[in-house]
Amino acid sequence: MFEVMYDYLIVGAGIYGSVFAYEAAKRGKTCLVIDKRNHIGGNMYTERVHGINVHKYGPHIFHTNDEKIWNYINKFTSFNQFVYNPVANYEDRLYNLPFNMHTFYQLWGIKDPNLVLDKINEQKGNAEVISNLEEQAISMVGSDIYEVLIKGYTEKQWGKKCNELPKSIIKRLPVRLTFNNNYFNDKFQGMPANGYTDIFINLLKGIEVRLATDYFGNRDYFNSLARKIVYTGPIDKFFDYKYGQLEYRSLEFETNVLNMNNYQGIYVMNYTSSKIPYTRVIEHKHFDNNGDEGITIVTKEHPKTGTINTEPYYPVNDEKNNKIFLQYRKESEMLHNVIMGGRLGEYKYYDMHQVIASALNMVSKELL
Ligand code: FAD
Ligand code: UDP
Repeated sequence: MFEVMYDYLIVGAGIYGSVFAYEAAKRGKTCLVIDKRNHIGGNMYTERVHGINVHKYGPHIFHTNDEKIWNYINKFTSFNQFVYNPVANYEDRLYNLPFNMHTFYQLWGIKDPNLVLDKINEQKGNAEVISNLEEQAISMVGSDIYEVLIKGYTEKQWGKKCNELPKSIIKRLPVRLTFNNNYFNDKFQGMPANGYTDIFINLLKGIEVRLATDYFGNRDYFNSLARKIVYTGPIDKFFDYKYGQLEYRSLEFETNVLNMNNYQGIYVMNYTSSKIPYTRVIEHKHFDNNGDEGITIVTKEHPKTGTINTEPYYPVNDEKNNKIFLQYRKESEMLHNVIMGGRLGEYKYYDMHQVIASALNMVSKELL
């Protein structure tokens, strides 16, 4: 038998696990954080290469409407003022995102917002019940924008037809009849001046962390070390897939260091045509204007089918998967020594601020 040494074993040094660990340690609890990767930060991890903060797991922009969450994250690093204005490339023509008067002008040459509205109404059809992403998208922006900026990108990203996907996915994006390219409607938005990893260094200061350590590599041993477990990996794996595998979308990141100052002039360019295999090209230096002279780093993001052996990045929150998830959640709620949290533990398409909110909510229940 091993000796119980910690109050909490925290599986995953992403934002859920790290916020939980910080708050627990602040209240005098002992924690051991483990992560199977060789770094802290989960998918928010940034790595400094040639002075450039490389977003290793895709472009991350912090945004929230909640002032408490904004103040919270600002305790751990300083943020630059930043407004995310990516552009979309469709067959070599560029369009502003999200869908706003710039986009409508670029596609239709219409300057008058009332005429844009007429055009959308003309194209949007008259579906009374909107049951999938395709219907939702066409009702929001009409069929032209759907064909040029949504269909190809979405079907690559998710590996399914738009009419097989939940409408919630496209409702993430704003539609505006103003000339405003801000990708988010939230009150607060920013980019950490020195990358995201500093947040985790500060959250985990003084807490024992073991990297390159897989919970499933020695589950009984890790279980025996602590009174409670906070688990932030995929929930279906925790239960050995007993109710079936949940679907996840995976990604492959193709990164190149280039000997030039500027490759594409913007941090993210989305490729919306189905003919291009990747969804977006990230040029990391433009997020915070850091980096050595004469070098830039560029990543192409290739969507991939999720399998037991690939990294799960996106939950696929359709009816079928949500139903399976509820069985797992019910089972996890019966385990009084286990807390499931985060994007994979709660199987929700959470952004960073929502994961922090979820972790703090758990802290308020668990650690009075
Ligand atoms: P994760 O960051 O996934 O952390 C979980 C950790 O658990 C991982 O480090 C993993 O290695 C570890 N783990 C899993 N299983 C085990 C095991 N068996 N043993 C040990 N360790 C284990 N959010 C935004 O707000 N804005 C954005 O712009 C944005 N862009 C994104 C772009 C991409 C491509 C992706 C994939 C996500 C994006 N997000 C964005 C979402 C954001 O990354 C997540 O909401 C957040 O990082 C999730 O934190 P987490 O702690 O729940 O999970
Ligand atoms: N989307 C699209 N075209 C784009 C950008 C996004 O059709 O150029 C759709 C696509 O379905 C995507 C969803 O909007 O999955 C949400 O986009 P977001 O940028 O929030 O995706 P994330 O950054 O989470 O991958």
